[in-house]
Amino acid sequence: MKIRAHHILCVQNYIGYGYSEDFKVHMDEIVKKLRDDPQIEITEGCDDICAACPYNENGQCSSLDKVKLMDEKTADALGLKCGDRISWNTASDMASKQIFETQLFGKICGSCQWYDICLKQVGQRAKGS
Ligand code: SF4
Ligand code: SF4
Repeated sequence: MKIRAHHILCVQNYIGYGYSEDFKVHMDEIVKKLRDDPQIEITEGCDDICAACPYNENGQCSSLDKVKLMDEKTADALGLKCGDRISWNTASDMASKQIFETQLFGKICGSCQWYDICLKQVGQRAKGS
């Protein structure tokens, strides 16, 4: 499965919100597949999640500047680069320790429209609920 770096974060905080009904149905399927801990490949452009997004315009995100920056910051924080293959559980564990449990989460995601919702999810996980 191809995943752009910042989507490693989004999947972990996903609680059923999305850009459209099709997007949510697709995202539910992705989350289900990732529970089996497949290998993921870090990709630069649109990935398997973007496939059903209304902002995917012919294979390019319409908010490219914003998401590219989030991808770069996430990849840097995790020491990953485009083309790297890694198991989903390893990537998500790294994201928890190196991003969600540090100040980097706000620095990477602070400008996202879903930030407050995701921040709440991160806080609840930290409390073990
Ligand atoms: S704040 Fe936005 S970019 Fe960050 S994890 Fe949540 S949905 Fe993804
Ligand atoms: S197309 Fe853009 S907004 Fe849509 S899921 Fe991909 S990165 Fe996010």
